[in-house]
Amino acid sequence: MMRLPKFEYRAARSVEEALDWLGAFAPAVDKDPEARAMLMAGGTDVLPNMKHKLFTPKVVIGLRGVASLRGISYDPERGLRIGAGVRLSEVAASPVIRERYPALALAAESVSTPQLRQMGTIGGNLCLDTRCNYYNQSEFWRRAREFCLKKGSDTCRVAPNGTGCYAVSSCDTAPALIAFGATARVAARDGAREVPVAALYDDDGIHPVRLREGEVLTDITLPPLAGDWRSTYEKYRVRGSFDFPIASVAAAARFEGDVCAEARLTLQGVATSPLPLPEAEALLTGQRWTPDLIEAAAEVALRASHPMDNTSGTIALRKRVIRAYTRQALAGLAGNVGAGAA
Ligand SMILES: Cc1cc2nc3c(=O)[nH]c(=O)nc-3n(C[C@H](O)[C@H](O)[C@H](O)COP(=O)(O)OP(=O)(O)OC[C@H]3O[C@@H](n4cnc5c(N)ncnc54)[C@H](O)[C@@H]3O)c2cc1C
Ligand code: SF4
Repeated sequence: MMRLPKFEYRAARSVEEALDWLGAFAPAVDKDPEARAMLMAGGTDVLPNMKHKLFTPKVVIGLRGVASLRGISYDPERGLRIGAGVRLSEVAASPVIRERYPALALAAESVSTPQLRQMGTIGGNLCLDTRCNYYNQSEFWRRAREFCLKKGSDTCRVAPNGTGCYAVSSCDTAPALIAFGATARVAARDGAREVPVAALYDDDGIHPVRLREGEVLTDITLPPLAGDWRSTYEKYRVRGSFDFPIASVAAAARFEGDVCAEARLTLQGVATSPLPLPEAEALLTGQRWTPDLIEAAAEVALRASHPMDNTSGTIALRKRVIRAYTRQALAGLAGNVGAGAA
């Protein structure tokens, strides 16, 4: 049985309290990295990773009691606001999200299991750690094979001659939020800042989320979508009942008649960060989506994806799935389901 290491739990009642506690521990981290305090929302990633001794915080700051992080609201002028502490089950069931931002509802609904969606939050999902077959293992397993660059060694087990960590970006809601042009609001002790969700991620498997030490993600805002917007999320995973994405596609597009006026495509599970596809978006914009055009965009997606051999599924399979799911997603949006062969 894997046990949690010893830690102190502090339940924050406000964002300010969480920020104060994060700040109080920051100086200690210079002397002892294990002394860091870590935020926990639903705990569905933090706690398993602590059991695996991947995270060893001295203090865990719980956000579940912070009322200002809850709530979903929609305003036709300002768009949709989702508190970082909103559970994935609430995102998936929200009538306004299902009606106006269906790709986000589909993405939230596809995360793990009903129990975990009832605990896991959208903020925790956006800040999810990257994953790798050599990293997401018990300490016993990792010690037997030698540790890797991301935890305790100077060598990556996947690309020993590489210069970084290629662990896989695996959070389902990020690609959908990026496709909608969402913005994250982040609080710090010296004020708050807004950052596009697309800019939250770095191409770095060790530090995948660009939050500074001591910051708390508070809200996500999606712009109001006027006109004929359509969107979807297609996810490939090994176990259909629950699993992390290993090749998925979020697509959103606005149509004027049968011509696409704006197109957004973002891949997930095939790189260290979500991958927006500006080349495919440009190809699709201003056009009627014929099967040939959809095929051309699916080829762009295949070329842009660069999965590594560090999660389930082979590299070739995941690339082929990206092409097939991009084709399927676009054909669905164009009302042209079934275009082309897999
Ligand atoms: C069996 C299993 C299957 C899973 N399958 C999937 C899947 O298919 N797809 C998927 O996307 N995920 C999956 N997950 C991972 C996880 O359940 C979800 O990503 C969930 O949304 C994480 O949210 P949480 O609130 O539990 O995050 P936590 O575990 O509480 O936190 C995750 C990270 O976010 C940080 N954090 C949390 N809230 C904030 C905040 N407000 N500001 C700043 N940082 C914050 C934490 O410090 C931590 O680094 C799975 C997990 C398990 C155990
Ligand atoms: S990609 Fe390499 S460094 Fe990163 S977690 Fe996997 S084995 Fe470790």
